[in-house]
Amino acid sequence: MRIAIGGIYHESNSFSARLTTLEDFRSSSLLTGGAIIDYWRGTNSEVAGFLDGIEAIGGEAVPTLVAWGMPSGPVAARDLEELAGELARRIAQEQDIAGILLVCHGAMVCETRTDADAFWLHQVRKAVGRHVPIVATLDFHANVTPEMVAAVDAVVGYRTYPHTDYRDRGKEAAEILAKTLRGETHPIAHCVQVPVVPNLLTQFTACAPMRCLMDAADDVRRAAGCISASVFGGFQWADVPHHGISVVTVSEKGDPDTVRAGEAIARKAWDLRHSFRTDLVSVEDAVRQANEPGPTPVVLVDTGDNVGGGAPGDGTIVLKELLEQHSSGAVVLVHDPETVQRAIETGVRGRARFRIGGKTDALHGEPVETEGDVRLLSSGLFVNVGPMREGLREDMGRTAVIDARGVTIIATEKRSPMWNLEQLRSLGIEPTRCRTIVVKAAIAHRAAYSPIAGRMVELDTPGITALDIRRFTYRHQRRPVFPLDDDFHPLIQDQTTGA
Ligand SMILES: [Zn+2]
Repeated sequence: MRIAIGGIYHESNSFSARLTTLEDFRSSSLLTGGAIIDYWRGTNSEVAGFLDGIEAIGGEAVPTLVAWGMPSGPVAARDLEELAGELARRIAQEQDIAGILLVCHGAMVCETRTDADAFWLHQVRKAVGRHVPIVATLDFHANVTPEMVAAVDAVVGYRTYPHTDYRDRGKEAAEILAKTLRGETHPIAHCVQVPVVPNLLTQFTACAPMRCLMDAADDVRRAAGCISASVFGGFQWADVPHHGISVVTVSEKGDPDTVRAGEAIARKAWDLRHSFRTDLVSVEDAVRQANEPGPTPVVLVDTGDNVGGGAPGDGTIVLKELLEQHSSGAVVLVHDPETVQRAIETGVRGRARFRIGGKTDALHGEPVETEGDVRLLSSGLFVNVGPMREGLREDMGRTAVIDARGVTIIATEKRSPMWNLEQLRSLGIEPTRCRTIVVKAAIAHRAAYSPIAGRMVELDTPGITALDIRRFTYRHQRRPVFPLDDDFHPLIQDQTTGA
């Protein structure tokens, strides 16, 4: 049995000044044919889970095109059309494809489309027609629409944030597809949107309020007519009408109990809306706290420059404060190709004057000027160890470690989120021995840093991933929506066409 594998995966921050292009996908991972299997097999990824599931039924995996891009600005329209066209063409040209497994994020925006994922999913559907079953995985931060769900037969969303279950969900998708192909199940997917945009920090799935919704989905999955149930936190920086929480259930032939159960989870999300807000600490107070005696390392979370949320990663607001408060033993990673180049020209053990970070836009702080000693230069390549993306080869681009006035600055050629400890260890920095580590993130870093953090402080930093949505001007956002509005009573029900 031949099962096609493909996908286009991107989380797009509408407030980024820079469009995401094919070159950006290539810089992360844009692969076709057998190279897809070579790259993803055995890693903690959806594709590896697809392969596990296909192998379990003695099927043949047919890799077509998988494009994975680091979160960044909206995707250029022409490039998305090219990717979608190539994916659909590759699937259409294969003979005897029984079913299709797709990797999708669900919060991709393109410069001309707010629902970019529905666009490419429908391209794939058109290529094979209605009779070939399609199951797609979605990121927990998907802003799910009925149009997306209508393009496929079933959808499986991550159950964790930080995301550690990529491979399990890939396998689950493959199992649903296998049962569908054997005629043992007849999936119909249902989507319920909730007009609540939760603050990203409250989306941590290990704790309330999100845990309450994840537990509710666990209960629904155990019911007889339910094939799968997923809760999505949504991605607040996608300027689309549909951003926010959603619930997708996949039922046996449209089982009404499953549909009602999905709607009940969605209503619960609405009832919990006031708990999807949180308080943050000012940068000055956070750095002062980090310098005070107490358990270390202190992890300072720069939420406004969250690389995994599409921010540039060259913000300097926390770095500047660390230098001003004479912090010692702090580590800050900054995306800054110019500084890397200068460090390479200076050479290891050389001293130079650097102008670090703050170069992408004016939203994340000014460049910081300082003298520094080049401690180490690296290829920036390492293999991921840890619960997120285990086994994947990561590429920070050429990387320089610079010591400047008690602060260790890591400058990278590529944007590189701090999702695992191997990143620092590959540069000879033992994170457990650092006093302070700045992570440009919100929650994803917790998979690696929670086990070692002495203290963790979330900072109220400005930037294109600032957590308060009132800081942003949306053009496409639906209204009313919580937390911008609270005096309304939404109709929360299944929105899937034909359900
Ligand atoms: Zn996510």
